[in-house]
Amino acid sequence: MWKPANILMERCKMQETVDFIQKTFNTKEFIPLHEPRFFGNEKKYLNECIDSTFVSSVGKFVDNFEKVFALKVGSKYAVATVNGTAALHIALILAGVEHGDEVITQPLTFIATCNAISYCGAKPVFVDVGLDTMGLSPKSLENFLTIHCEIVDKKCINKTTGKTIKACVPMHTFGHPCRVDEIKTICDAWHVELIEDAAESLGSYYKEKHTGTFGKLGAFSFNGNKIITSGGGGVIVTDDEALAKRAKHLTTTAKIPHAYEFVHDMIGYNYRLPNLNAALLVAQLEQLNGFLENKRALANEYAEFFSKSADIKFIKEPKDAKSNYWLQAVLLKDKKERDEFLEFTNKNGVMTRPIWRLMNELEMFKTCQCSDLTHSKYLEERVVNIPSSVRL
Ligand SMILES: *Cc1c(COP(=O)(O)O)cnc(C)c1O
Repeated sequence: MWKPANILMERCKMQETVDFIQKTFNTKEFIPLHEPRFFGNEKKYLNECIDSTFVSSVGKFVDNFEKVFALKVGSKYAVATVNGTAALHIALILAGVEHGDEVITQPLTFIATCNAISYCGAKPVFVDVGLDTMGLSPKSLENFLTIHCEIVDKKCINKTTGKTIKACVPMHTFGHPCRVDEIKTICDAWHVELIEDAAESLGSYYKEKHTGTFGKLGAFSFNGNKIITSGGGGVIVTDDEALAKRAKHLTTTAKIPHAYEFVHDMIGYNYRLPNLNAALLVAQLEQLNGFLENKRALANEYAEFFSKSADIKFIKEPKDAKSNYWLQAVLLKDKKERDEFLEFTNKNGVMTRPIWRLMNELEMFKTCQCSDLTHSKYLEERVVNIPSSVRL
């Protein structure tokens, strides 16, 4: 008669977790995973923007945002875009990714990473993540390149497919920085461009350098669920002036500046961030430090609570890193316990979500080449996000 007793224990533990989260968020009502917060100058700037009539593709809030954002992350240039996927797409084009190329990334990511690679006509190659960061593992990357690739004329050729591996896109999962300095060293040695998907990691640092600023270009997102939001939006960062200018050009229909004529010198994109969204974003960015402190305090409370649990482990920031703790996450013992946890919490008004399905298992990416993906699979079956909003 061990089994019923065990089940009772589990129930009890999950009930304790639900009680703790309700206490932490000071409510018995439904608790969402992540809500935006508008405590600052949002309405003031939006009104200013509307009064100015410059609500669309040009305006002072876009310019202001780009300046302040570049300063904030310590990059020389920032170019605002309509969303994070567009930022990634343009970053990949600027890194030279073309039709028929390959791009290394991690299978444990949001679909946008792989979509952006696909928009270039390139194919993702999946390399395993590290259990320490949930982001691309430098060791798996180096192993993959050593086994499968060779350098020919300063190009990284995949010996299996004969294609060129143009770029590598690590992602800082839930804001926890991956070991991006080691990844950069490996990419440099193999003539592969480093583009960071920093969509989730605004306010996260690795060895005191802001994520997204290690590679040639980095991309951030300001979707409604991110740490700060413009409704929808994104940004490309780089230290290279020529690349920043091309990013602006490509995202603004490749129009040649002229007083009244429409002349475009290539096929460009309408990926501009509207000034209206930028107004919201400027106000949000002013509050980032407060949001970061608030999330860190929540992480500490979660860490303390789950430290008493043998079966549910709270995921802390990796070594040498300062995480923004954008989405808080726990690691369950196995898939069965994960499913029970998801079922119980969601039924009891506490929103929780499993980490993404592995990209290489989705229909569109089934034929992509993969390294051994043991760690990705392990995490896919066990990681769950728990409520992470900035508390009032
Ligand atoms: C949010 C996100 C993006 C970009 O998403 P958009 O909705 O296009 O702004 C890209 N990559 C990752 C990993 C993300 O989480």
